[in-house]
Amino acid sequence: MNYRHAYHAGNFADVVKHIILTRIVLYLQRKEQAFRVMDTHAGIGRYDLKGTEAGKTGEWVNGVGRLMGAKLDPQVAELLAPYLDIIRAENVDGQMRHYPGSPLIVRHLLRKQDRLSALELHPQDAKLLAEVFEGDFQTRVTELDGWLALGAHLPPKEKRGLVLIDPPFEVGGEFDRLVEGLARAHKRFSGGTFALWYPVKDIQQLRRFTDMLADTGIPKILRTELMIRAPSAEPRLDGTGMIIVNPPFTLEAELRTILPALSKILSDEPNAGFRVDWIRDEQVDA
Ligand code: SAM
Repeated sequence: MNYRHAYHAGNFADVVKHIILTRIVLYLQRKEQAFRVMDTHAGIGRYDLKGTEAGKTGEWVNGVGRLMGAKLDPQVAELLAPYLDIIRAENVDGQMRHYPGSPLIVRHLLRKQDRLSALELHPQDAKLLAEVFEGDFQTRVTELDGWLALGAHLPPKEKRGLVLIDPPFEVGGEFDRLVEGLARAHKRFSGGTFALWYPVKDIQQLRRFTDMLADTGIPKILRTELMIRAPSAEPRLDGTGMIIVNPPFTLEAELRTILPALSKILSDEPNAGFRVDWIRDEQVDA
């Protein structure tokens, strides 16, 4: 396990992923009934943007750095406000120093009845994550293989919520594991929302991934991608993707408002593009 998210924290992919995350969790808040978020590949929770790792790559500068300085249309500003408020809450003196990872973003959005389960396999990262949530009875941090938790820890006792699956893609076979893991988890928690992150790097592989997802027979699979440049000849992170199963009925329209704005802010090339479409759509009017 060599992957260290600290090198990439706050980059364009994190920004898009975490904005989608906030929109899903905000939707869950619409009902009084408690929900649970399970974060299967949680990372360390809070990243030091001036630390050695983030400082070395500076990836955040073209991600959250650009967004914080951007002028937004009122409609976009309203949709991004919950995410931006969390970033500001983590940087109270107005200097960008800390970037919150997915579990910390979720934690900001929990009400007192809601719970977060955060899994992290890397022992050192799991320890750092546990320190962030020390004494927090609403959050459980477990040093465990997130793929195993998809079977063992589902369904949550709240019977509603979100499962975020955000693997590092450092070894081959991660797309297969995503589809297999989703199929297994969906059998146990078919009413849950699932958000699966993936890199847009290799178009052939993505076609196969989409076909495999369609073949699962799982209804209501929304795909969204944002590109920062045209596809590169060499494998390179040209874009960021997310699959959302059982998305909130509001999400598609929200993404159609948010992504054009993010595309302008985060892309390295004009018209690099984005997409929002259904891999399987059995959406009934909500
Ligand atoms: N979700 C985090 C966020 O958005 O802030 C970033 C997660 S990072 C992309 C992937 C994380 O998964 C790394 O911290 C890595 O150590 C961890 N990891 C790798 N394999 C794992 C596994 N099988 N189970 C749980 N965590 C794993």
